[in-house]
Amino acid sequence: MTSIANNLEVVRDIISQACTQAKRETDNVQLLAVSKTRDAAELQQLYCAGQTHFGENYLQEGLDKIDALSELPLTWHFIGPIQSNKTRPIAENFSWVHSVDRLKIAQRLSNQRPIHLPPLNICIQVNISREENKAGCLPEELPELITQISSLAHLKLRGLMAIPKATQDAAEQRLAFSAMQELLLEGQKQSPALDTLSMGMSADIVPAIHCGATIIRVGTALFGPRDYT
Ligand SMILES: *Cc1c(COP(=O)(O)O)cnc(C)c1O
Repeated sequence: MTSIANNLEVVRDIISQACTQAKRETDNVQLLAVSKTRDAAELQQLYCAGQTHFGENYLQEGLDKIDALSELPLTWHFIGPIQSNKTRPIAENFSWVHSVDRLKIAQRLSNQRPIHLPPLNICIQVNISREENKAGCLPEELPELITQISSLAHLKLRGLMAIPKATQDAAEQRLAFSAMQELLLEGQKQSPALDTLSMGMSADIVPAIHCGATIIRVGTALFGPRDYT
């Protein structure tokens, strides 16, 4: 077995144990393989081990891999910062966008989504730890954004995404994740179809699942440490 395939088994075990502890169905937690900086051959290894959902942060890098792996039945998620002049290729090539934090971006994605494709699945990114210079809307901005984005024709608003402040403190991790869970519950009062909470990365998979994550975004635990050089 390749080490990537082995890592996938380890991560799946972590997910299923966390689900058991939380009395949740394993099927309700989807593993998104975050493949930034990884080459197409590494993604293909993970695909051969059964992984089909991949998340990319950088547009050109993502488009190159979508092209290189176009023969495989993969689902692509865009999870990185979005510049408004780059929305068209995102709308044309991805199935999900997790990092929408303002109306203008959502409007452009909706207008640019090709009509022969299903609606683009959207999560609103929330700056849950209120960090300066961090992407995401503030919690108090959510109700209006949910209303506005829900009305856009070629988008399907699915839920919320967060990258809480990095911390080793388990209590602090849990506080941020449970705040997100509360926000989703509030949002569901406005928009009952919301079903997605995208949160939890390699270092905090378990508390995220305990607090209701439905998509966990995992890079390092699958592929090993990233090399940006
Ligand atoms: C890189 C990244 C991840 C994965 O982080 P790991 O710690 O490598 O699991 C998840 N979400 C986003 C938005 C990222 O940029």
